[in-house]
Amino acid sequence: MAPLPPVVWSDAVLRHEPKGEVWVGVMTPGTEVPDRATVLRDACLAAGGTLVGATAHDDDVLRTVHDPALLSYLSTVADDWAAGEYDALVGQDRVVPYVFMTEGMLDGLPAHAPVATHARAGVWCYDTMTLVGPGTWEAARAAVDVTLTAVDLVIGGASSAYALTRPPGHHATRRAFGGSCYLNNAAVAAQALRTAGSARVAVVDIDAHHGNGTQAVFWERPDVLYASLHVDPGAGWFPHVVGYADERGSGPGAGSTVNEPLAPGTGDEGWLAALERLLGAVDEFAPDAVVVSLGVDAAGADPESPLDVTADGFRHAGERLAALGRPTVLVHEGGYALDRLGADTVAVLSAFGDAGRGAQSTE
Ligand SMILES: [Zn+2]
Repeated sequence: MAPLPPVVWSDAVLRHEPKGEVWVGVMTPGTEVPDRATVLRDACLAAGGTLVGATAHDDDVLRTVHDPALLSYLSTVADDWAAGEYDALVGQDRVVPYVFMTEGMLDGLPAHAPVATHARAGVWCYDTMTLVGPGTWEAARAAVDVTLTAVDLVIGGASSAYALTRPPGHHATRRAFGGSCYLNNAAVAAQALRTAGSARVAVVDIDAHHGNGTQAVFWERPDVLYASLHVDPGAGWFPHVVGYADERGSGPGAGSTVNEPLAPGTGDEGWLAALERLLGAVDEFAPDAVVVSLGVDAAGADPESPLDVTADGFRHAGERLAALGRPTVLVHEGGYALDRLGADTVAVLSAFGDAGRGAQSTE
């Protein structure tokens, strides 16, 4: 009997080396490091998990989630930057935007596409923290293959599967990337499940930050519920301008977005109570399949969030998510405390291993 869901893995997710994050103008050490993935892999193996190699998938689903022009940009910009000699000129070997074409800058004027590589960066990236270097595209694209392989397993009859992805994805919108995210793996998972025949899919996002990208992708969609609990952006936290409780979806998607912003310092009790409210909305939505945006940066020790969730809290969350009883694809998002990341993630996944025993057709 499997103690964990199948763990989908690709060596290529290690190829993205962010080097750093430019925050308030200063290059600080990046926390979204390749070691995150190896820590997760080793923790899953130590807990008795089985690795499944990712298989290559075409761009069909990816191109329904993201603007093909964003994909084209991300797949070529590292080479363009290297050819631009920015490293030789100023010692910068990563793509960093410096000008952002905001609504206020244009004020209704027709904008031409910028020619300079350093200007093009601000068209597609909405912050200065999400650098692109050699290997970034390869890792982000591999994470999509990892995700789609996990979806295949669930479509094929597994009760759940875990996509061990990095870089994370839930801050990436249809036409922009940021927040250490490039391609939105969870949105790809939800869309792939829809394409494969699940009429209604719920995305439950337990990462410490609001998944603005996923919410944006499905904002007007009645067939995909986006439900998130996260540190309150109104208390000064990323993504700052969205993720508030009054955001409920729009048009045909009205009512299919649910946000539970939480005060900094919220621990297990408040976090799990918010999860119960989300799960009530999920039950009411009656999805055929569930995607969990599995970030564990709500952990007390995490350097990227002020929430204070314990391993017990994550274990309870896993049990409650598994009790939904739906086919579930768990997609990794955040979690940056390397000494907590593995244990907290396994705490969530273990509930799915147990829950899956009755439904697994083999082994
Ligand atoms: Zn996060």
